[in-house]
Amino acid sequence: MSDASLSNDPHSTPELRRRDATHHIHPFSDTGALNKEGSRVIVQGEGCWITDSEGNRLLDGMSGLWCVQIGHGRPEIADAVHRQMSKLSYYNTFFKTTHEPAIELAERLARLAPAGLNHIFFTGSGSESNDTVIRMVRTYWDLMGKPEKKTIIARQNAYHGSTVGSASLGGMSGMHAQGGMPIPGIVHIPQPYWFGEGGDQDPDAFGRWAAQELARAIEEQGPETIAAFIAEPIQGAGGVIIPPDSYWPEIKKVLAAHDILFVADEVITGFGRLGTWFGSDYFGLEPDLMSIAKGLSSGYLPIGGVMVSDRIADAFIEKGGEFTHGFTYSGHPACCAAALENLRIIEEEGIVERAAEIAPYLQEGWLSLGDHPLVGEARMVGLVGALELVPAKPDRSIRFDNTGAVGTLCRDHSLKNGLIMRATRDSMIIAPPLVISRGEIDMLVERARKTLDDTAEDLRRDGRLKP
Ligand SMILES: *Cc1c(COP(=O)(O)O)cnc(C)c1O
Repeated sequence: MSDASLSNDPHSTPELRRRDATHHIHPFSDTGALNKEGSRVIVQGEGCWITDSEGNRLLDGMSGLWCVQIGHGRPEIADAVHRQMSKLSYYNTFFKTTHEPAIELAERLARLAPAGLNHIFFTGSGSESNDTVIRMVRTYWDLMGKPEKKTIIARQNAYHGSTVGSASLGGMSGMHAQGGMPIPGIVHIPQPYWFGEGGDQDPDAFGRWAAQELARAIEEQGPETIAAFIAEPIQGAGGVIIPPDSYWPEIKKVLAAHDILFVADEVITGFGRLGTWFGSDYFGLEPDLMSIAKGLSSGYLPIGGVMVSDRIADAFIEKGGEFTHGFTYSGHPACCAAALENLRIIEEEGIVERAAEIAPYLQEGWLSLGDHPLVGEARMVGLVGALELVPAKPDRSIRFDNTGAVGTLCRDHSLKNGLIMRATRDSMIIAPPLVISRGEIDMLVERARKTLDDTAEDLRRDGRLKP
C-alpha cells in the first residue's frame, strides 16, 4: 500500500476525526473549537479502563459519564441483551400490553428501592425521568383537588437533565440562556455549596441557612401553591457538592412542616455510588418520587425511570383517568434485560457492599491531595469526589480569573497522565467504577497528584500561582 492510500484509510485516527467533524454535532461542546482540535476516538472499554484509537489506555475516573457501576465490557450483559433481542427485540407498553422484562425489572426495583417506592414509570433517560416528574406531581395535585399546587422548587446549579423541562428544573444559568428556559412555575433556591458560597459561616450554620431558604421560598410563594421540592442528594454535574451535615436533617424538618412532595434525583447517587443502594438510604431521606437512570443499566443501554410511592400511585390508580404521558421506549425489553443483568451482577457480586468497603481507601488517597498547594478543598462521599483548585489557599474567596480555564488545563494534563477526570469550573471530579481495585486506586491518586503538579508548574510559569 502506498502512503497515499494509507492516509485514506477511513478508519485511521485522522480520518475518523475528519469524518466526525464533518457530520457529528457533540453534546455540551463548542463544535467549532472541537472540530479544529479533533475528538478523541474511543475504541474499547474493559473494567476501569478505556483505550483510544492511538492505543492510549486511560483509567476511567468518571465511569463513562457517572454510569458504569460494574465497569466496562461485561459480556454477561451483551449475552442477556442478545437473548432478549432474539426473542422479543421490541414491543411497547402502551396499549394494554406488557412483557416479562418490564414486569421483572419493576418488581426488582420495588424490592431494592427505599421503603414505600413500590412502582415505576419507565423512561429512556434521566432527563425524561425528570420531565415525567413535572407532569406527575402537577397531575397528582390535580387529582387530589388542589390544582393550585403547581410550583416546583429546585436549586441553583442543580443538574436534572437537558430537555426543556428537566433543564428548567436544573439551575444552570448557562443552559437557561439557550432556548428560553426555565419554563414557568419553577423556583430556584440557593445550593448548599459551602466552599463556594459559605462566606464567613461555618459549614453547619451555612447548611442550616441553605435549608431554611426552602422554608423561605415556600412562605414567599405561598405553601398552598407548592407542588414539590426536587434535589440531588449530592449535586453531581454542579461540581460534586456535598451538603454540610446539618443540611438534609434541616430540609427534612421543613418538608415535614408542609404538605409538599419531595423528589430525589438519584440519577447519579443511585445503585451504589455512595456505598448504599441509593443516596436516600445514605442520608435517611424518604422521597415520594425518585428519578433513576445511569447506573440502572451501568450505561450499557439507555434506560431510566421514576420510582413512585404508594401514596402517589394510589391516587393515579384510585382516582382513575388516563395519564397522557409516555415514551415509545418506556420499558424497552432489551434495555430492561440489560438493567436486570446489571442488577443481578451488582447483587450477586455484592458490588454495593464492596463499594462501601473500598470507599475509605479511595477517600484516604483522595483527601490526601488536599495538602497540595493548588487544592483548596478535597471532598468525597462513597466513590464520588471533587478537588477545588484555588490560587491562594487557604483563602476560599480568592478564585482564578477566567473561571474554568484552570480546570480545563488540569483536565488536559490528567488525560496526558492517563487518568480521566472531569472539570467543572475550576474543580476536578471523579466517580470511578464501583469495581475499582486497591491497585487502581493507588494509580488514580498517583496520577491525580502528578496532574496537580503539572498544572501548578504551568500556572507558576505564567504567574497565575505564586512560586
Ligand atoms: C445525568 C443526569 C440527569 C440526566 O440524565 P440523562 O440520561 O443524561 O438525560 C439527570 N439528573 C442527574 C442528577 C444527572 O446526573
